[in-house]
Amino acid sequence: MVVSLESNKRLILIMSVFASRTLSTTPTLRHVAMMLMRTMNHHHHHHPSTTTFTTTTTCASSNTKNTAFAKAKCLSSFSNNRFYSAVGNDGGKGGQQEQQDVVIIGGGPGGYVGAIKAAQLGMKVTCVEKRATLGGTCLNVGCIPSKALLNASHKYEEAKHGMEKHGISVGGDVTIDVSKMMAQKMKSVGGLTKGIEGLFKKNKVNHVVGFGSLVDKNTVEVTKEDGTKETISTKNIVLATGSEPAKLNGVDVDEKTVVTSTGALELEKVPETMVVIGGGVIGLELGSVWSRLGAKVTVVEFAKVIGGNMDNQIRTTFQRALKKQKIDFKMETAVKKAEKMPDGKIELTIEKVSTKEESKMIADVVLVSTGRKPYTENLGLEKLGIKTDKMGRVEVNVKDHTWETNVPGIYAIGDIIAGPMLAHKAEEEAIAVVEHLSGKEGHVNYDAIPSIIYTHPEVAWVGKTEEEVKEAGLEYNVGTFPFAANSRARTNDDSEGMVKFISCKNTDKIFGAHIVGPQAGELLGECVLAMEYGGSTEDIARTCHGHPTLSEAVKEAALATGGKAIHF
Ligand SMILES: Cc1cc2nc3c(=O)[nH]c(=O)nc-3n(C[C@H](O)[C@H](O)[C@H](O)COP(=O)(O)OP(=O)(O)OC[C@H]3O[C@@H](n4cnc5c(N)ncnc54)[C@H](O)[C@@H]3O)c2cc1C
Repeated sequence: MVVSLESNKRLILIMSVFASRTLSTTPTLRHVAMMLMRTMNHHHHHHPSTTTFTTTTTCASSNTKNTAFAKAKCLSSFSNNRFYSAVGNDGGKGGQQEQQDVVIIGGGPGGYVGAIKAAQLGMKVTCVEKRATLGGTCLNVGCIPSKALLNASHKYEEAKHGMEKHGISVGGDVTIDVSKMMAQKMKSVGGLTKGIEGLFKKNKVNHVVGFGSLVDKNTVEVTKEDGTKETISTKNIVLATGSEPAKLNGVDVDEKTVVTSTGALELEKVPETMVVIGGGVIGLELGSVWSRLGAKVTVVEFAKVIGGNMDNQIRTTFQRALKKQKIDFKMETAVKKAEKMPDGKIELTIEKVSTKEESKMIADVVLVSTGRKPYTENLGLEKLGIKTDKMGRVEVNVKDHTWETNVPGIYAIGDIIAGPMLAHKAEEEAIAVVEHLSGKEGHVNYDAIPSIIYTHPEVAWVGKTEEEVKEAGLEYNVGTFPFAANSRARTNDDSEGMVKFISCKNTDKIFGAHIVGPQAGELLGECVLAMEYGGSTEDIARTCHGHPTLSEAVKEAALATGGKAIHF
C-alpha cells in the first residue's frame, strides 16, 4: 500500500510536470494526472490540494521559502500541520487565578482570533482588551464602519444617479440623513463586536477588560477602568496591541475639522470641501464616502502615485475612474501646515515637492491619512528589553514561523509587527502563533495575502505586480481581460476595469493577480486560493465558471495569459 502510494506520488510528479508544460496540446494527459492526484488525495484525505505537487515542482525560479516550506510539509506530513483541529479546552475554569497557558494583550483581529483558536486547541487563555468592546481597530474604527459607510454612500449615489436609465424613479429629491446613516453603521459594529463576546463565551476564553502591561515574561498586569489592578500569571504572552494613526508635523488633529480616519467615520454633516492628506487605502476609501455624499474632495499626495504598491496598469485605470467621480488629485505635494481660521475652516499650506513652491488650500474638513504606526505605549517593552525596529514595530522571528520576540515566551502579531497592516494578515498570524504554542507548526504564506481597496470600482490584488516581476528579472506572461467584455458586468451596467494575471513564462505558475472593477475583492478569492495551491493560470482557465458571472472575467484573463481569451 505504502509502496504503491509512494510510486503513485512519483509518477504524478513526473506526469504533472510534463502535463503542465504540454497542457494546451494534451489536455487529456493533464486530466489523467489530476485524476491520479485526486485518487491519492483520497487516500490522504486530510490534504485538499490537488495541485500542490504540480506547482511546487514546476516553477523553480519563483520558488520562495514559503512554497519550499509548503512542499516539505506536504511531502512529509499530510495531517499534522495545516489542519485546524479543535479539541476544546477545559472550560477555563480557573479563570485568572490559575496560571494561563497564554495571555493575549489586545482584542483586535489578531488578539481575538488567537484567543479563540488557543481555546479550541485546549489552552487556558485570557484576552486583555482596554476597550469596552472587542474587535479592535477593525471592528470599532476601521474595516467595518468604513465598509458600512462605503455601502451606504454607494446606495445613495446609485439612487441619485444610477436608477433613472433603468426606468426607476425614486420620486423627488434623494436626500441624506447623516445621523441615521451613522446609526445604521453603529448597528453593524455593535452586532459584530457583541458577536465576538459570544464567541469568547462559547469557546471559554477569559475576557478581561483593562489596560495590559508586562511585569515580567510570565506576568501581565491589568489596570481596570476604576484604577484597580489585577495580575495574571501565564506561561506565554502574545502581544497584539495593533496600531494608531500616524501624526503629521504641523497638522494638529481635533477629530472634528482636522480628523484621522476615526473622526472621518463620525462626521456629523457632509462638508462642502474636504482635503485628504495621503492617497493610500484609507484616504481613498473615506474620500470616496464623503465625495459620494456631496463633498468636493481633493487628495494631496506626497508621492508620484496613489494606492501604494499597486500594479501600474491597474492604478492608471483606477485613478481615471476616481477622477471621473470628480475626486481631484494634487500629486507630489507636501502639506506643511494646517491652521484653523476664524470662520472655522482650515487653511493648509502646501508645497510642490519638485519646485518647493508654496501655496494655500482651504477646506471645511481635513483628513490626515498618512499611515499608521504600531501602538505599544506603556506596554512595558523597554522594561523587558523587547526589541523594536526603527519604525517602532516589535521584532519577531518570522523566518522560523514562531513570531517570538527576543524575550523567550513573548510573541507578537498583527499591526505591531512588520508586514501589511491588514486584519486578515493579523488573523493568519494569530492562528499560526497559537498553533506553534501548542506544539504544531503554524505557517503564514506572506506571498499570498490579498490587498483590497473598497472604492467603486474596487481594487484587489495578490502577489507580485508587473513592475516587481520585471525588477526581479523573471520571465513572465501577462493576460488581461476588460469587464467591458464580460456579459454580467455589461448587464449590470457596471463594467469599468479589468482583470490581469502575471505568470511564470516557463511553468505558468501565477506570480500575481490584479483586479480593478466591480466586486474585485470577492473575485480575487479564487486567485488567492490558486496561488496558495501554487496553481497556474491554466488551472483557473480550465475551471468551469458559472455564467453569467463577473468571475468569468477572471477565467478569461487566465485564458488570455496562456494564449487568447474567447470573448475579447
Ligand atoms: C479606517 C480603517 C479601515 C480599515 N479597513 C481595513 C480593511 O478593509 N481590511 C483590512 O484588512 N484592514 C483594514 N484596516 C486595518 C485593520 O483594521 C488592522 O490591520 C487590524 O485591525 C489589525 O489588527 P490587530 O489585531 O493587529 O490590531 P487592532 O485591531 O488595532 O487591535 C488592537 C487592540 O488592542 C487594544 N490594546 C492596545 N494596547 C493595549 C493594552 N496595553 N492593553 C489592552 N488592550 C490594548 C486596542 O484597544 C485594540 O482594540 C483598516 C484600518 C482603518 C483605520
